Amino acid sequence: MSLPAGSTIGIIGGGQLGRMLAMAAARLGYRTVVLEPQPDCPAAQVANRQITAAYDDTAALAELAAVSAVVTYEFENVPVAAASALAVTVPVYPPARALEVAQDRVAEKKFLNGIGVPTADFCPVDNDDELTAALKKFGGSGILKTRRMGYDGKGQRVFRNMETGGFAGTCEAMGNVPLILESLVAFEREISVVAARGIDGLLATYDPAENVHREGILHSSTLPAGITSETAVSAQAAAAKILAALDYVGVIGIEFFVLADGSLLANEIAPRVHNSGHWTEAACIVSQFEQHIRAVAGLPLGNPGRHFDCVMENLIGDDILCVPALLAEPDLMLHLYGKAEARPGRKMGHFTRMSRHRLI
Ligand code: AMP
Repeated sequence: MSLPAGSTIGIIGGGQLGRMLAMAAARLGYRTVVLEPQPDCPAAQVANRQITAAYDDTAALAELAAVSAVVTYEFENVPVAAASALAVTVPVYPPARALEVAQDRVAEKKFLNGIGVPTADFCPVDNDDELTAALKKFGGSGILKTRRMGYDGKGQRVFRNMETGGFAGTCEAMGNVPLILESLVAFEREISVVAARGIDGLLATYDPAENVHREGILHSSTLPAGITSETAVSAQAAAAKILAALDYVGVIGIEFFVLADGSLLANEIAPRVHNSGHWTEAACIVSQFEQHIRAVAGLPLGNPGRHFDCVMENLIGDDILCVPALLAEPDLMLHLYGKAEARPGRKMGHFTRMSRHRLI
């Protein structure tokens, strides 16, 4: 059954993704309550209410459950225990299983390989000896990442053509946390697919975006991606497999490496709306944010068709100073996140520059 207009949707996490979800929810007639420890967060500025508490605060979670008809989240590091506890009293979408898989890079790769979605080769690494052995296996090159809590390229170290050995202290420098060494993929480009699955199991899949990262942070997403239709179809088919295997409800973002022969390796899944899907608010009738709200509210999913070629760019830190010049462009949609301070590396907003040529 779908959620009647006027119902309240709980959102765990108060960043820009929560903000855009709250705005989409409002347009569909819903109210939103945001659980976020940071006062006056981007999402709370546009939501009906903020519960200002930690994500694992038992009393705050109970309050969120009591006031919400359904609970969702805007980041993948929501404690699984919190999501599972909430799910006893209120529907929580996407399901806690998606969090479990996405929070640990080893679990994520095992899950993907298990359903026939290839990834880079990998080895769990817990100490310098295991690192030496894993690097040897990968011919001296690899990318060492923290298994958990990594985002925007944080907690990563690249090794290229190194003689193996002499890595004493590496694991300590990475914080003595569980690590993973991935083989270094010689990719031609990076793409992502944003897709949604409804409570009824129906899917809506957006066109793949081609992504460029700078210093580990997404810089731009370009539509269409420079890939063949076969590669696009295989990325979308992988997304469909992942959504079905997780019995997923909501929007998911899946990042892939495209190899020279057009084949794909999945890099990461994000069980939430995704930065590389921000272009959908400007180039599609139904954005990823509305699609997510539709999915978790049990409404029919909307048409993910794309009307324009476009490029989305993030505004990071001082990029925000370009806003007046950007607004002078005729075919540009700007979205700012309401963050007071433009610190280096901080996502302040994004814009989507549209081609003039309408596609459909
Ligand atoms: P991640 O945090 O896993 O999304 O990694 C951030 C960025 O690092 C990716 O978007 C790639 O540009 C690069 N990267 C990550 N993993 C690999 C890999 N196994 N081989 C080559 N480049 C990688």
